Amino acid sequence: MTAQDIFDDTQLGLCISCGFCLPTCPTYQLTGDEGSSPRGRIALMRAIASGTVAIDDPTAIEQSEHCLGCRACEPVCPAGVQYGQLLEQWRDAGWKHKPAKLRALMAAVRHEAPIRAAALASNHARKNTGAGDDYLMLGCFERILFPAVSRTAAAGFPNLTVDPDQGCCGALHAHNGSLETGEEMARQLADRLPGTIVTTSGGCAAHLASVIGRDRVMEFSEYTAQRLASRDFASIQRNGRTARIAIQDSCHLRNGLGVADEIRTLVRQVGTLVELDTAGDCCGAAGSYSLLRPDDALRVLEPKLAEIATSDVDIVVVVNPGCYRHLRTHLARDQGSIEVTHIAELLAEASASPSSG
Ligand code: SF4
Ligand code: SF4
Repeated sequence: MTAQDIFDDTQLGLCISCGFCLPTCPTYQLTGDEGSSPRGRIALMRAIASGTVAIDDPTAIEQSEHCLGCRACEPVCPAGVQYGQLLEQWRDAGWKHKPAKLRALMAAVRHEAPIRAAALASNHARKNTGAGDDYLMLGCFERILFPAVSRTAAAGFPNLTVDPDQGCCGALHAHNGSLETGEEMARQLADRLPGTIVTTSGGCAAHLASVIGRDRVMEFSEYTAQRLASRDFASIQRNGRTARIAIQDSCHLRNGLGVADEIRTLVRQVGTLVELDTAGDCCGAAGSYSLLRPDDALRVLEPKLAEIATSDVDIVVVVNPGCYRHLRTHLARDQGSIEVTHIAELLAEASASPSSG
């Protein structure tokens, strides 16, 4: 592959260097450095494509790693630059020597058997033959770390078919420099789950949709919101009142697929929505980012933690396993009385609660 072949020329050519994306970029907000902004990174990509900068130039590697891949730069871009695609192409060409931690993670979820073995003791959703063509995706790490998510999702929608032998969608690979493998894994999963794939992970939804088509994929909050009439929710109580519930959007779900209203509709059904100014900002989890760059991930999270601390919140609800792990870890440490939960678990509690009238 030559330097000219790394990037989609059309995408790279779209950027008009207007800078509208700069204020939305978390890494630019942290550093104030143009090089850490979307515009600066696109300038670097162009220099790589023209051969002026080598793909393994240390600054180029650092900037491709420092980027969260949150895609907050996309919805504000007047030229329609699909920055997320360019980043995946950049990492695919440049990340040849991945850290051992990342290689181990990617190897662990590459095939179905190791995921199945690791999840054996986990109480995730069990095998079910549903009534239609909708399939519940179990995720790879989610089924091990947060098994109640798929369990409650399946309990809420018995029509969903659950195949416990399914593999991983490949989002981790696609976002971390193994694009071809990530796309192949998405296609394999789509063959295994041959209808509409319902996923409880916003990041997986965006990756799957980009490979197998948007019409084959539904994220759980949009699936549930479409079927609200068939669900009867009660009000969730905390601390002697209707629970005050904040939302952490999934970056790829919000910025990549434009899905953000649905979870708000659902939260209003079961509690008092507390709309944080930072709800749509990346929490710093960003797939493998919080594992590989924990200090930067925490710096990205800090403004959100500060806002939560002053918002009289009982629960923060998430739609992505990475956000779940990152927020729970740091909220438990700093603000232990505030719960973090997935929207599927929240709705399961509201379904089980006696109606408050
Ligand atoms: S908003 Fe779009 S066109 Fe403007 S600098 Fe950013 S990426 Fe380029
Ligand atoms: S993906 Fe996020 S961190 Fe990366 S350039 Fe865009 S806004 Fe900045």
